[in-house]
Amino acid sequence: MQGYFDANATAPLAAVAREAWLSAQEHLWANPSGPTAVSARARNFLREQREAVADVFAVDPERVIFTSGATEGNNAVCQWMARLGAEGGCWVRSPFEHPSVAEPFAAFAPGEAVILRGTSGGIVDLEEAANALRKRPVALLSVLAASNETGVIQPTAQLAGLARERGARIHCDAVQWIGRGALDQLPDCDFLTVSGHKFGAPKGVGCLLLGPEMGGFTGAIGGGQEFGRRAGTEDLAGIAAMVAALRAVVEAPLPSSGGRDLLAQRLKSFGARILGEGLPRLPQTLAVVLPRYDRTRWIARLDRRGFSIGAGAACSTGKEGPSPTLRAMGLSADEAARTVRVSGLREASHEDWSALTEAFEAVLEDLDNDRGDERLTTVIEIP
Ligand code: PMP
Repeated sequence: MQGYFDANATAPLAAVAREAWLSAQEHLWANPSGPTAVSARARNFLREQREAVADVFAVDPERVIFTSGATEGNNAVCQWMARLGAEGGCWVRSPFEHPSVAEPFAAFAPGEAVILRGTSGGIVDLEEAANALRKRPVALLSVLAASNETGVIQPTAQLAGLARERGARIHCDAVQWIGRGALDQLPDCDFLTVSGHKFGAPKGVGCLLLGPEMGGFTGAIGGGQEFGRRAGTEDLAGIAAMVAALRAVVEAPLPSSGGRDLLAQRLKSFGARILGEGLPRLPQTLAVVLPRYDRTRWIARLDRRGFSIGAGAACSTGKEGPSPTLRAMGLSADEAARTVRVSGLREASHEDWSALTEAFEAVLEDLDNDRGDERLTTVIEIP
């Protein structure tokens, strides 16, 4: 995994998660809702897993709802809020939300949702937000803890405070935060969404944490699982793996930004522009506008040298222009087409970052000398 620098897209399975998955799959395969002893064992195990998550986030176990990931959680929050109707006021969100928030907002908000203004650094403009929130009653505020594209940490606590004064419920997408930021810095919210595969669990498992007053929440309805708030037979093995991975990352020290900053300094010396520079950012994420060449060429060349990085914006053909996040930051289509996202795993060492830095240097030299040019033909989406 040494050359893997696309951790904001997903992380490999952690050893502890693999062990927990195999053990639960082998020994606790019964349906937790059944009437017999094997099911009771599965049910007890599920209760323990819920208590473990509750312990990590310092909430009551009844407020932990296991889901299939953050897309489900984010959709469920919006659909439930929509079911409550338009009374509470309008819906407000940051301009940097993941599509799994932005699209349900567009689909389910009563009336037109308010999209807050972002600065060129990629952070919500608090002054404008204070004005926007003051103007009207607000039913729902969604703000992500940190951007998956730029790593910029958003002023969630301040925004939540402002929105609460207007009567809003607060939703925070904490997907990129877990294992990268201190949990006690997350805002008090009514809905917090988490995705296991970003921190070492398998794909397809996550959780939604509900605020103390959200007892009436329902997501998928049907079988009555998860206190009637999310129907569907629980994926006990996936849940066990997520809990093991979660415990491991919250007990470990937070990753440092040293390797990322070293790369940033080198890239700047070639004329690259670091997005969100000077702002609080996730320690291992770097969004950067590279000099001269389209990102598809940088990505393909680095890939051939054994380094995986992410695209910073929409489709690689450049036809679709900047992603909403990059647009909100005022990037031109040309700058967006040269933007990449580098996101290291927690385990990435200083040597790994140095090796990537050298690879960037070598790729620039190749590109400048027009050596071995092959373009990526696939379309790259932002996960
Ligand atoms: N929110 C953010 C900020 C994300 O980065 C992602 C994953 N790219 C999601 C939501 C969706 O999570 P999942 O893959 O669990 O559906």
